Amino acid sequence: MSPGDRGGPETTGDRGGPETTGDRGGPETTGPYAVGVVGAGTMGAGIAEAAIRAGCTVRLHDAFPEAVSKALERIEGSLRRSVDKGKLEEAEAKAIFARLEPAPALTDLCGATVVIEAAPEDPALKEELFQRLDAACPAPATLASNTSSLSVTSLQSAVSDPARVVGMHFFNPAPVMRLVEVIAGARSGEPALVAAEALARRMDKTPVRASDTPGFIVNRVARPFYGEALRMLGEGIADVDVIDDAVRALGFRMGPFELMDLIGVDVNLAVTRSVWEATYFEPRYRPHRIQARLVESGLHGRKTGRGFYGYDGDGRRLDPTEGIGPPQVSGQALPPGRDETALVAERLSLEGDGGIAARLLAMLVNEAVFATDDGVAAPAGIDEALRLGANHPRGPFEWLDAIGPGLVLAVMEGLWDWYREDRYRPAPGLRWRAGGKF
Ligand code: NAD
Repeated sequence: MSPGDRGGPETTGDRGGPETTGDRGGPETTGPYAVGVVGAGTMGAGIAEAAIRAGCTVRLHDAFPEAVSKALERIEGSLRRSVDKGKLEEAEAKAIFARLEPAPALTDLCGATVVIEAAPEDPALKEELFQRLDAACPAPATLASNTSSLSVTSLQSAVSDPARVVGMHFFNPAPVMRLVEVIAGARSGEPALVAAEALARRMDKTPVRASDTPGFIVNRVARPFYGEALRMLGEGIADVDVIDDAVRALGFRMGPFELMDLIGVDVNLAVTRSVWEATYFEPRYRPHRIQARLVESGLHGRKTGRGFYGYDGDGRRLDPTEGIGPPQVSGQALPPGRDETALVAERLSLEGDGGIAARLLAMLVNEAVFATDDGVAAPAGIDEALRLGANHPRGPFEWLDAIGPGLVLAVMEGLWDWYREDRYRPAPGLRWRAGGKF
């Protein structure tokens, strides 16, 4: 990308006066909460906005100055909308905006307590950036990466003191989403992790600590939400709208197919592929050919006007796309001759859905048990992360409690017996939790 690609006029807004006596005021708006942000794209601009709204002072750097101008414009526009809606006073908005300063050089970030890197997801680019940050922002600054798929540990080898490198994984849109996964790389030090958590709290976010494993918490544990829905579609168990309806009946705001359309079918496939590859092709994460085919066809969801569903000019959902799955063959998501479908439906007060909800939930819970037993995060952290980062109505361990470990295990064993695929093996920890009881 050339600098010219980013275009955009210089910001002409009133940046307000030097006094930062906005909504939060007080001495904590300076000094200890000085934040540096590197990369002024979607995430960098969002993180900067969330930080200044919460009272932090922010310096924003990008390799392309035009990107910073665009980000300032975007943030100013968002503050103006808050004023128009009556959520902020004009003077507050000006004071908030005045907390944001462009940083023409990386060395201008020196003095920040935490520097958050939100540059493109390119390992070589990020490593080079961390080498430069190491010199530009010496200790004790914490250096955090917003990477969603790269190993934080690999970035640690680019700096002289790996203890001060952590992950701070924000979710999009950063000003709205409350979760921040704080990632401990193999050599992250406790002071840097605590600084990242403190900053997340200061930004009105909820930090959840996770170990440095592929997909961290949300991008890993939520995989079956999409993957198992695709499997059921691909087997002719039900059409996309029937599966979406069954999942919404559980309290999810959106079904898996409408959510993939919203996220971008291509973006969702890229996350699945990245977790699958980073785990040396663990079959639980194997991408589905139906999704790959949609991406190849340019049907990427809402943004292209069609994905699993069609959309009209106003973004309203139309009918499911014809011919993306096989004709319906069974209507039954769980193997014949087993009674778990009715039992799960009864425990969750569901109407009969052919076992779609039971199968999807069992896979989510099984994945969460694998994750916690792999040391990714504690069950309470995983629950919180899925609720805040993926908008699930309950965390997987809350579903486990609602359904009961013996019944979840019975569903998994039914699937395992039927398919004899590694994908359906029950997590060893699920057997322990079931303790041999139904
Ligand atoms: P983006 O392309 O919108 O923004 C990246 C910015 O970095 C651009 O403005 C670009 O000019 C700038 N940049 C490029 N090279 C640079 C360099 N050497 N130094 C400084 N700036 C440089 O990307 P994004 O979507 O904001 O993603 C940024 C990071 O956040 C990635 O690691 C991504 O995986 C992660 N992330 C993205 C999302 C999301 O939904 N977009 C969510 C969570 C995490």
